[in-house]
Amino acid sequence: MSKRYYFDHAATTTLDSEVFQAMEPFFQDKFGNPSSIYQEGQQAERALTEAREKVQQMINAADSREIIFTGSGTEADNLAIKGAAMARMDRGNHIITSKTEHHAVLHTCEFLEKHLDFEVTYLPVDEEGLIDLQELEEAIRPDTILITIMTANNEIGTIQPIFRIAEIAGEHDIYFHTDAVQAAGQLEIDVQQSGVDLLSLSAHKINGPKGVGALYVKKGTRLLPQMQGGAQERKRRASTENVPGIVGFGKAAELAVKRLPEKRQKLIKFRDRIIDTVLDEISEVRLNGPRGDQRLPNNVSFCFRYIEGESILLNLDMLGIAASSGSACTSGSLDPSHVMLSLGLSHEVAHGSLRISMGYSTTEEEVDYLLENLPSVIQKLRDMSPLYEG
Ligand code: PLP
Repeated sequence: MSKRYYFDHAATTTLDSEVFQAMEPFFQDKFGNPSSIYQEGQQAERALTEAREKVQQMINAADSREIIFTGSGTEADNLAIKGAAMARMDRGNHIITSKTEHHAVLHTCEFLEKHLDFEVTYLPVDEEGLIDLQELEEAIRPDTILITIMTANNEIGTIQPIFRIAEIAGEHDIYFHTDAVQAAGQLEIDVQQSGVDLLSLSAHKINGPKGVGALYVKKGTRLLPQMQGGAQERKRRASTENVPGIVGFGKAAELAVKRLPEKRQKLIKFRDRIIDTVLDEISEVRLNGPRGDQRLPNNVSFCFRYIEGESILLNLDMLGIAASSGSACTSGSLDPSHVMLSLGLSHEVAHGSLRISMGYSTTEEEVDYLLENLPSVIQKLRDMSPLYEG
């Protein structure tokens, strides 16, 4: 394949070679089941403990036993929301979330509404994707048992005021879950300082393997397991652990902590350069999400008027650039993303979305190439668009 320019690190990241090396022995030589009491099992169990401590350190949890390994970020979200909601049904059946959550959260809330008679309030967001804390407080009812609001948005990079939300939830004795899948490796996460009760992570967004996630559960938080089976993960997540994957997650977490300050500084520079150049060189474009500290360092999202995000992607792909649009293709029709629509954008504007997301491996040369090519791709597509009049 000719040279590729990868700008979709929010979808998934490359597996770091150090992570791969750490995982490799656990596919063959160190094959034991961590639940077995003989040496092979104990070796695997020790590897799990080490990985758990590394994930604990990444989020500054008080105790490594507060980390439950899962099969993905999606599973961590499901376990957190269904597990906490079902464990607290004696206290109420109301959940608060936001309209811009990932589908792993939104569809889980919808499931609880449909099948278990929960009631869910979906908070709106402002034009930059932020929830309003006043509206959050007003939405709280005596029967509210759980608030689930993401740390940072996967499409537009908006960072929510997690510390304040945790404070408000705590004042009302409501559990607070946050999906930190996109925030990990980009922002410092400190569960003790922020006071969240539940926090979801995914390894493949931080240069780890796919198919591994984790849920942080603060000591004392009630959680009903969602899978019935063995006693793994202190009876909170049955099934034999994915040892190579978890070892890889641990290594990725260790590297993420070590690399964070340098990576953050580099990506903020690239991010702001892309935003400034595009707003300067291309007309009729909207930046989605805020600027500055309220935005993830690795995320840039635009809507280009008069053209379709999908055609931008195809044209960039032909030039070797991999990026993403906010829209999902559902049963043959192109539905604009729920996140874009929640910002108050029309369907037409929402359709022209492009997400550029960067990672540890992103280089200045790649950013140069993107910026050399993006304006001409947009112009070419506009020249062909019946909606565009120049
Ligand atoms: N939550 C957010 C915010 C995400 O961006 C993603 C993945 O894109 C997930 C959850 C799901 O994670 P996983 O792919 O590990 O299931």
